[in-house]
Amino acid sequence: MPTDPHREMRQAVVETCRRMNALGVNQGTVGNVSARSGDGFLISPTGVPYESLASEQVVAMDLDGGWAGDWRPSSEWRIHAAIYLARPEAGAVIHTHAPNATALSCLRRDVPAFHYMMAVTGGASLRCAEYATYGTPELAAHMLRALEDRTACLLANHGVVGFAPTLEAALALMAEVENLCRQYILTRQAGEPVILDAAEMMQVLEIFKTYGRQGEPRS
Ligand code: 13P
Ligand code: ZN
Repeated sequence: MPTDPHREMRQAVVETCRRMNALGVNQGTVGNVSARSGDGFLISPTGVPYESLASEQVVAMDLDGGWAGDWRPSSEWRIHAAIYLARPEAGAVIHTHAPNATALSCLRRDVPAFHYMMAVTGGASLRCAEYATYGTPELAAHMLRALEDRTACLLANHGVVGFAPTLEAALALMAEVENLCRQYILTRQAGEPVILDAAEMMQVLEIFKTYGRQGEPRS
């Protein structure tokens, strides 16, 4: 039998699905994970519990939605394909039903720059995409609008989606976004937050570009 050229990447998708649930940013079989591969992407299958997910069940798709094999791709393959098509910098996409992000998505409002770490979204807010039924092309179109100049957005009455160059970075982004959503809910329970202005967020976005770099000369 020929060796599978996607073997390592399939395994990385499986591990990311499991870590996403272990981190508490998703639960059950909802949520989905993909990684760009060649002209297409590898995506978790629909409805398979992550504990029993085997790497052979990860589905290889092209960007038009074509796929082969015994396992059906995630019902949300359209939001993944739309991101790979529109955003060349995306190497991995993760969609979750993280509890705090999902709670805020049901308010159908953007989360403003209440904390400087909101810059992880690539801008000054976490937008909420307009509502559409899960799995539809309409949902993908609404999501792309909310992702303009951003790497993550809420999906109304549904959950959250984000992308990054790698699976590792996409998972870290989703964990940070969930953390921020929890902090925003706590803040709103305590009172009315002071929102950072656009100039301050521009500055944060600028210094974020070099955040955490080690091994460089002191300035
Ligand atoms: P899948 O199990 O089909 O990946 O999707 C669940 C989901 O999150 C739908 O929005
Ligand atoms: Zn979903």
